[in-house]
Amino acid sequence: MYVGRFAPSPTGPLHYGSLVAAVASYLDARHNNGLWLLRIEDLDPPRESSEAPVEIMRQLQAYGLHWDGEVLYQSTRLSAYQDALASLQESTFFCNCSRKSTPSVYPGTCREKQLSENTDEPVAVRLRVPDKTVAIHDLVCGHQKWNLEQEVGDFIIRRKDYLFAYQLAVVVDDIFQEVTHVVRGRDLLDSTPRQLAIYQTLGCQAPTYAHLPVVVDDQHVKLSKQAHARPVSTSAPMPVLRTILRQLGQSTPAGVDSVSGLLDEAIQNWDIKAITKSTELPEPAGIHGAVQT
Ligand code: GLU
Repeated sequence: MYVGRFAPSPTGPLHYGSLVAAVASYLDARHNNGLWLLRIEDLDPPRESSEAPVEIMRQLQAYGLHWDGEVLYQSTRLSAYQDALASLQESTFFCNCSRKSTPSVYPGTCREKQLSENTDEPVAVRLRVPDKTVAIHDLVCGHQKWNLEQEVGDFIIRRKDYLFAYQLAVVVDDIFQEVTHVVRGRDLLDSTPRQLAIYQTLGCQAPTYAHLPVVVDDQHVKLSKQAHARPVSTSAPMPVLRTILRQLGQSTPAGVDSVSGLLDEAIQNWDIKAITKSTELPEPAGIHGAVQT
């Protein structure tokens, strides 16, 4: 049974780039007669807006993207993350390195220091990665492989401020929700080897992945809340959906006059192999206002 999901962080309403990920994961799930779940990744309160989850759901509904079952909120799952941390304990260590002083591949500075948590200084928890290669066959990007020690390094699974890291929570919840397929933006491809390392250490099977090109503005900067991407408007979903289908290399049926009709056709015709292998998609002009079909 195929189980897919969309897992936004509620830092604000959906922008065009996040809607592209939602549409692609929805169509892939429905084309494969699968479930499509919605998970709100509200793990980092200082970065979140309390209105965002409701707004995201309103946007998804306006675009006809109806999810199955109850919405899962990561803020309700803290004890599951704590249990996972305990199961991983043999492969973790405490670390007091500052973020600034740490290169992108952690050189193992605190591996052998045997730091403890009971000091005045806050410590993070890192997963110790083996000198091993992990690989996936990505449905969009093709074969991908990483050496965990040389290219990834030991990484944080619980932060110094006691918040659980995205890498841990996403794996624990994808296992809990029995997710079989993860369709998401290519900006998260770098995270995939970390997540594979957690799956392996927990002795669980990783899902199938498809990493989509990322939508960028005219400066080649990924659309994001931080870069002030505008919320996707819900006033005219049809032209926006057509634009997304076109950008994803899908056919855009003529003569359909409702969102649900358009999605039904798109589900039938969905071809994940037709998605461009280039890493970026340009943000289309005019999607925030008067786009004509
Ligand atoms: N919550 C993550 C984000 O909004 C996505 C998680 C995922 O799809 O794995 O960037």
